[in-house]
Amino acid sequence: MSSRDDTLAASIRAIRDYPKPGIIFRDITTLLGDAKAFRQAVDDLVKPYADMSIAQVAGIEARGFILGGALAHQLSAGFVPIRKKGKLPHETVRVAYSLEYGVDEMEMHVDAIKPGEKVILTDDLIATGGTAEGAVKLLRQMGAEIVSACFVIDLPELGGRKKLEALGVEVRTLIEFEGH
Ligand code: AMP
Repeated sequence: MSSRDDTLAASIRAIRDYPKPGIIFRDITTLLGDAKAFRQAVDDLVKPYADMSIAQVAGIEARGFILGGALAHQLSAGFVPIRKKGKLPHETVRVAYSLEYGVDEMEMHVDAIKPGEKVILTDDLIATGGTAEGAVKLLRQMGAEIVSACFVIDLPELGGRKKLEALGVEVRTLIEFEGH
């Protein structure tokens, strides 16, 4: 990693054994609360997409909303929330997905994306890729053209990047951490 990436990595707090033993939780609230680090993360995430006429940024609840809103603003794109089930008020499409520590369902509004729209998917971190895979399925069901999926953090040992790439989705991440 470059020294720029080292600075970003240093702004992320590691919490051992949260939410259960053996997990190192990568807490980005410390990155978000550091004005320089937050700016850097957003700038570095949007850079590859600056001239690509991205129509929508889709963010995964909840930390993907914070990053996704900032990315959408920078790209002059719309923002689409992908939420845990039962939270969205209008008609939704739903998919089940597996997590590093559990199973859940996520939804998006049926009319959130127009077929053929160029979409960037974002979240704070990719681990097993189960969450992002679910989001990719939802977006594709709606006819989205997923240009890329981007994350601040990759946990490469958990294989999420490879899982998304096998689905034909380009993956961009800023920093990697070893382990879970
Ligand atoms: P996965 O579906 O396994 O790729 O898990 C990704 C989702 O779970 C993201 O929304 C992350 O915010 C969260 N997550 C998984 N593992 C961690 C971790 N070690 N630290 C922080 N968040 C995590």
